[in-house]
Amino acid sequence: MEILANYINGELIPPHSSNYLDDINPAIAEKFAEIPLSDEEDLRLAIASAEKAFPAWSGLSAKERADYLMKISNLIKDNLEELAVAESTDTGKPLQLAKTVDIPRAASNMEFFAHAFTQFSSESHAGKDSINYTLRKPLGVVACISPWNLPLYLFTWKIAPALAAGNCVIAKPSEITPYTAYLFSKICMEAGLPNGVLNILHGTGPEIGNAIVQNKKIKAISFTGGTATGRKIAEISAPLFRKVSLELGGKNPALVFADCDLEKTVDGLVRASFTNQGEICLCASRIYIEESIYEDFKNRFVEKVKALKVGNPSKQANNMGALVSAQHLEKVKSYIDLAKKEGGNLLCGDEDIELDEETKNGYFLRPHVFENLPNQCSTNQEEIFGPVVSLNVFNDEKEAIALANESEYGLASTIWTNDLSRAHRIGNQIETGIVWINCWMNRDLRTPFGGMKNSGLGREGGLEALRFFTEPKNICIQY
Ligand code: NDP
Repeated sequence: MEILANYINGELIPPHSSNYLDDINPAIAEKFAEIPLSDEEDLRLAIASAEKAFPAWSGLSAKERADYLMKISNLIKDNLEELAVAESTDTGKPLQLAKTVDIPRAASNMEFFAHAFTQFSSESHAGKDSINYTLRKPLGVVACISPWNLPLYLFTWKIAPALAAGNCVIAKPSEITPYTAYLFSKICMEAGLPNGVLNILHGTGPEIGNAIVQNKKIKAISFTGGTATGRKIAEISAPLFRKVSLELGGKNPALVFADCDLEKTVDGLVRASFTNQGEICLCASRIYIEESIYEDFKNRFVEKVKALKVGNPSKQANNMGALVSAQHLEKVKSYIDLAKKEGGNLLCGDEDIELDEETKNGYFLRPHVFENLPNQCSTNQEEIFGPVVSLNVFNDEKEAIALANESEYGLASTIWTNDLSRAHRIGNQIETGIVWINCWMNRDLRTPFGGMKNSGLGREGGLEALRFFTEPKNICIQY
């Protein structure tokens, strides 16, 4: 069994407390590793090493820093198989998904931001008697805190722009899925990343996560996680006038119009609803269907959902693996019970799951589809973050938009129509930071990524991330 270590000042070291937490493989419900429980003392060492590394790291040229990021990217690619197995073991996600999405994307994140910062430019404003130009300086020591659903994918999505821009980083992965972050520390060591430039601390949110957020030496926090945690981070950061980027929860609407390509829409929405067991902040969870095609859509959708195979994540035949933990499985099941109490009609989900001997104790759940739930009910308003969706009816475009926007969240939406004007009209009116038309999770890393309302503050991706991780300074020269 592997005992994980913190990565501080270029070395793998045990936690100051000598205490560890179990890391559970959710597909077999057994412990497979131990995670350091870090505390203030580990943070103190990490910050000291990051502060020491900052002058030299920020003094490198963009190209020199990019070379390190490219080495890391290439090593992720070289170790794809091992990283994918680790990610699947830790999260319960299908191995095939880890191999084709999670790990390749982690490599792309490093590569993308390596190049992006070498292309980053700042503005100049020429006036009648003077010219202004803007410098973009790294902030210093910054923090990156990421969740359990797309572990290495989201961890690197934050770390890469922070490092490329010249900052030194204190990073904390989720205690539920820390394993690939630990392997990533080893990759950074192999790549020769200078000591202290990146420090990875393991442990719980309330302890080490909170200590990071409370620390005044942290100049900015890039956080992805739940809305309640994001609010706490914002409250602590506001009096410090510290920059925060918050990527939070979602309750994402999908609007299906009668003029859509029905077959493509059904396939697209099965994928959007249940990829990664529905544990993606971007997953569709409220599907609104135009009344005239409701029955047809419902029958086709439910038939395809029933055909999804749930089971051992290492078997390629399975479309869905295990939920991330026993606690999360219980949370999702409690929402299924609530949906029934709220008047929902369960169309599929309670069929038996055939599990093999190895995974018979795992945290598996079949995809659940409900109909007849009022728009205002908890199941249609609260983030479940699991394989549960509701089908709802609308009569016209105006009603569809109103139903979709009746939410405290505003992360992502999908619109399924062949009417180009309608697609633009709704894209303009829907209150989400990301709108996909006739597709889902089609990502271009240059685009602004993030949510409105309770789904977050600020945007990641492309120039937005590089602006977040730098401080603008305007210099004015009189001619
Ligand atoms: P949490 O908010 O519970 O945790 C996110 C991270 O924050 C974890 O590393 C966690 O540590 C840490 N954390 C928890 N409490 C604190 C604290 N008080 N101070 C500092 N750090 C803390 O979210 P989940 O991990 O449960 O992730 C699921 C949520 O993430 C969902 O709401 C989902 O929608 C959202 N999400 C949003 C995305 C987006 O881009 N908008 C993308 C992916 C997920 P630990 O795990 O060790 O407790």
